[in-house]
Amino acid sequence: MTASATPKLAEIPSLDAARAFAAQRHQLYVGGSWVDALEGETFATHDPATGDKLADVAKAGERDVDRAVEAARGAMNDPAWIDMKPAARARLLERLADALESSVDEFAALETLDNGKPVRDARNFDLPHAIGTLRYNSGWATKLNGETISLSGPGTWHAYTLKQPVGVVAQIVPWNAPLAMAVSKIAPALAAGCAVILKPAEETPLTALRLARLIEEIGFPPGVFNLLTGFGETAGAALTTHPGVEKVTFTGSTEVGRLILRAAGGNFKRVTLELGGKTPVIIMPDADVTKAIPGAAMSIFANAGQICNAGSRLFVHERHFDEVVEGVSKIAQGLKIGPGLASDTQMGPVISPTQRDRIHGYIRHGVEEGANLHTGGHEIGGAGNFVPPTVLTRTTADMAVRREEIFGPVLCAMSFSDEDLDRIAAEANDSDYGLGAVVWTNNLSAAHQLARKLKAGTVRVNGGGLDPALPFGGFKQSGWGRENGREGIEAYTETKAVAMAL
Ligand code: NAP
Ligand code: MG
Repeated sequence: MTASATPKLAEIPSLDAARAFAAQRHQLYVGGSWVDALEGETFATHDPATGDKLADVAKAGERDVDRAVEAARGAMNDPAWIDMKPAARARLLERLADALESSVDEFAALETLDNGKPVRDARNFDLPHAIGTLRYNSGWATKLNGETISLSGPGTWHAYTLKQPVGVVAQIVPWNAPLAMAVSKIAPALAAGCAVILKPAEETPLTALRLARLIEEIGFPPGVFNLLTGFGETAGAALTTHPGVEKVTFTGSTEVGRLILRAAGGNFKRVTLELGGKTPVIIMPDADVTKAIPGAAMSIFANAGQICNAGSRLFVHERHFDEVVEGVSKIAQGLKIGPGLASDTQMGPVISPTQRDRIHGYIRHGVEEGANLHTGGHEIGGAGNFVPPTVLTRTTADMAVRREEIFGPVLCAMSFSDEDLDRIAAEANDSDYGLGAVVWTNNLSAAHQLARKLKAGTVRVNGGGLDPALPFGGFKQSGWGRENGREGIEAYTETKAVAMAL
């Protein structure tokens, strides 16, 4: 089996504009100017569907990090930014949302070129999420209030709290939803009045570079937003140890999250971490399986499984197990795999040859340990990093495929006979991760009881997705803190208590 080789390119709106943008010279954006990396280095970014080079991009080094931190610190001392009225900050974010909205097709095509995802997914999920996140956080800029406090000590007091921006924030994002991830970090930080240094993943810098052009056109004060394209081990690591950075926010692997936590300790940076997941999907005996089957399938196969809260462990009551496994496998076999630019593609390539090989390594290892390969698992020949949607059965709780984040379209399906909610939850909770959980049931009581018992930052019942208003983050080794919602923006503030003797 090979991936569909004949993309219908003519139908993709703004593809030419995206290609023309990719072909330009890409510099770093520091202090409101486009500059080359001080060492003059660049690196290439590739199309995951073909392996072809898309663009050369400036590679930031340690001295570029110093320069960006200095620019951001300058912004945090610039009255044009720190004294800007909240409504004016809100307006800047609204204008950025408008600008993104008028270029959605170009951004979607650019995301697909760089990341490989089906262009309609970029158009229907990533872009609306990014735009919605800007608008949602723009609304918070004018609502970040402290409170007045009654004190009990001797004397008469006027006491209150202020919510002030935390300062210079380094934001490090991965490649699976590059623009949406970048915006989910930038929007609350800017709404709160911070200055930002964004480091996109080396595999997918292009939409962040395009976004920086919009930010430049809209006219944020210089140094408020800085973009350093480059590598995690160098630019990323230098940001996390830099004494001029007050907070680090990171999305990516638990392994790198651990490194960042250590690095950030030097000057006690505030840290928000969105890390890996191994989300359980539980299908209860009373579930509507006609909805649960496509729900479970897309929970793991969307974005080729490269989603931190992908539903990678499926627990099905024995009453429905065969039907669900057959149904999910049928969907897997029917998914049209191909380049993201082909209009009929439902699953694109994974990001890189390394990730493709890593995913196949997990599948092989699982089978060697005794798992049954029910669907998929085969190598897809030809150019591009394609992996077939794969379903494994007969796994055990100690296998790597059950315990580790594979970050690919690989599902482990298990049956249970229990009706005891504590035991069902305990099995689902048997993981180092705790990012998400999904329950399919029509039993209200079971749904709410499981929602309490599952150790996960987000529990979805009978479907649902991301929303900028819904706090997102992990229990256990899935992270620290929350993004989105009120907590998400408050994480970019420090609380200051003020007490005045009257
Ligand atoms: P990663 O290494 O965690 O990368 C995420 C971001 O961190 C990238 O921008 C990366 O830069 C940067 N980075 C890497 N090392 C760093 C360091 N020492 N200090 C500061 N920043 C650093 O993830 P990956 O290598 O792209 O993917 C590996 C695995 O991570 C995946 O297979 C998957 O399991 C997991 N992952 C999880 C998520 C999630 O949302 N939970 C997202 C992506 C990946 P570079 O681009 O230069 O590496
Ligand atoms: Mg990496």
